[in-house]
Amino acid sequence: SRFRHDYLEVRGLRVEFDGFVAVQGVDLTVTAGDLRFLIGPNGAGKTTIVDAITGLARATGSVKFGGVELLGRKTHRIARAGVGRTFQTASVFEELSVLQNLDIAAGARRGPAALLRRRGRVPESVEQALETIGLAHLRDTQAGILAHGQKQWLEIGMLLVQDARLLLLDEPVAGMSQAEREQTGDLLQRIGAQRTVVVVEHDMEFLRSFASSVTVLHMGRVLAEGTYAQVQADPRVQEVYLGS
Ligand code: ADP
Repeated sequence: SRFRHDYLEVRGLRVEFDGFVAVQGVDLTVTAGDLRFLIGPNGAGKTTIVDAITGLARATGSVKFGGVELLGRKTHRIARAGVGRTFQTASVFEELSVLQNLDIAAGARRGPAALLRRRGRVPESVEQALETIGLAHLRDTQAGILAHGQKQWLEIGMLLVQDARLLLLDEPVAGMSQAEREQTGDLLQRIGAQRTVVVVEHDMEFLRSFASSVTVLHMGRVLAEGTYAQVQADPRVQEVYLGS
């Protein structure tokens, strides 16, 4: 696939806030087709790692994607290198339709001229994203009235049409119903099979059905790494989770 050379390599990542070290020398390797979960109790440093990768937190060490160093670059240049993220609160254009949201995201990648193209023609990438996120039947619905889960899927769709090849998703199932969680699980499996996907998650239970690898963080460090079964059976991981 066209994604096969994509490779996230985080080495010795360190983030300090006013003398408090939130991330202390984290190494992380994620390849395309290997969906990775980042888990750990509150305050473990999960979101700060995503912030560092996307240029929102100042960090030292190294973050390479596809061999390109991202640390020290501005956020928009990191996005242009194919890195996209979601936040816990979905940020979509509430007054616009699902299709218009995807169109704008696609246009942002192709430049302003694309926004002026003939009305009525939906680009193939947008059609594909609508199918992938399961919102094809809601294409003309105003984003503001979508259910919480649907907004999260739309935001993921916007990253897909922007051609993000590394997707960093921050607690995508937080606040979702059980049915929405299951659908999100399917969506992550499909995207993760192709692109490089890192999912920050607090709830261990959600990972149970995935064969993907899991990195457990604790106090800014990697505590354990392995399959769900492996990390779940690790006494150090149990201690951290029961103690939190
Ligand atoms: P997690 O996502 O695992 O819950 P975070 O990455 O949000 O953890 O936070 C890691 C630690 O860094 C926490 O102790 C948090 O209070 C601290 N922290 C995060 N952002 C800031 C900031 N902007 N200023 C100071 N401390 C911060």
